[in-house]
Amino acid sequence: MSITQTFTPTRPIWCAGCGDFGVKGALEKALDSLHIPRHELLLVTGIGCSGTIQNNVRCFGYHALHGRALPTALGAKLANPGLTVVVLGGDGDGFAIGAGHLVHTLKRNLGITYIVMNNGTYGLTKGQPSPTSATGYRNNVEEELDPILLGLSLPGSTFLARGFSGRPEQLDRLTTAAIEHSRSGKGMAFLEVLSPCVTYNDTYGLWRSRLHDVDEDAHYDPHDRGLAFKATLELREKGRLPVGLLFEAQHASLESLVLSSEQAPPAHQGIDPRDHLEAYYDVMRSFVG
Ligand code: SF4
Repeated sequence: MSITQTFTPTRPIWCAGCGDFGVKGALEKALDSLHIPRHELLLVTGIGCSGTIQNNVRCFGYHALHGRALPTALGAKLANPGLTVVVLGGDGDGFAIGAGHLVHTLKRNLGITYIVMNNGTYGLTKGQPSPTSATGYRNNVEEELDPILLGLSLPGSTFLARGFSGRPEQLDRLTTAAIEHSRSGKGMAFLEVLSPCVTYNDTYGLWRSRLHDVDEDAHYDPHDRGLAFKATLELREKGRLPVGLLFEAQHASLESLVLSSEQAPPAHQGIDPRDHLEAYYDVMRSFVG
């Protein structure tokens, strides 16, 4: 296989009508419109129905451990900052077991795009409540997590948006803008997509009836963190779901702060793993005594 070749993608295994089809369509349109060579693109995905998307897109991919997609992406981006790294996963993977990584990756402003397909349930394991499940869903007594409010509370965050699988034009625009943001050295772009699970938690109608499009709201200012937080919180308290570009700011990306211009990143240093086999075996042997 040459460097410009990747594998042949398979067809998605999702249920007919799953919101994740909309995310896949928007992602492929964004990658085409930005003319990103597929061999310079890495998809890192989490565990869950949504995580299987890396089998369906022609590029290099890595299906990470549950909740560990973001630290995997961090390693890849710092090793090869020229890569376009897009992380995709679900709300269970990203907001439960992976929640700590979300906080710290936003805080660090790593130059990647993170797209979370939020359906408010664990679809792969038959519909248990997730961190974003509504109160009352399958006897859930907790308040649902709002990942945009979480992102707004972190001073390092620079791009926060929410789309809906049932609004493809806006989702295409937001996906392209998110990838452009991270590719242009501005840091992390976080895009939450309301992506209903038609089998266990079909929220298409409910969510559509609650949408508030801030892109069409002349009073909404996505460039003021305090005002964006206040407006987003007030909309939530009124039962509305704000969608669109919710926040955008300027802040140095992690890779621009920690990588030295005098030393090539690891991926360009011609490191031969065979030269380090003995050291690797030493570490492995140390674990077994
Ligand atoms: Fe999509 Fe739900 Fe089916 Fe999983 S179970 S593929 S989330 S509709």
